[in-house]
Amino acid sequence: MGDGREEAASSDAAERLAAVCTHLEAIREDLRGGPGGDEGPVEDVLTTARNGGDVASTLAVLHAVLQADGDPQGLDGYTDHASATRGLRPAGISSARAELVYLCPAGRCARHWWPQAAASVPHCAISGSMLRRERL
Ligand SMILES: [Zn+2]
Repeated sequence: MGDGREEAASSDAAERLAAVCTHLEAIREDLRGGPGGDEGPVEDVLTTARNGGDVASTLAVLHAVLQADGDPQGLDGYTDHASATRGLRPAGISSARAELVYLCPAGRCARHWWPQAAASVPHCAISGSMLRRERL
């Protein structure tokens, strides 16, 4: 035991990272529209994640900047999707169906995407490659 807290913290970071991965463009717009006027904080997160560094502190900075820009929820305002589907098997999805899900190719974030007809598979904002297909 003793590392339960660390695990919780890192899955928290994975969910925040998933929010960045999923909502990158919206977050960039938020940052550009804020008093800082630049995308530096989110670029720092991406660079750190790409380099395999500890993203928790860059995520915390991004979160604080978004809050300072007038969004009281900060980064957590973007994570509703991630937390609603915590555990990768949202309520209402029957396991009898052979479910395919697409996951972050780098395994860095908690992002996942359900296949949708007529929608092309999104690319991970961190690695730049297509989400990888997994069978549940
Ligand atoms: Zn990702």
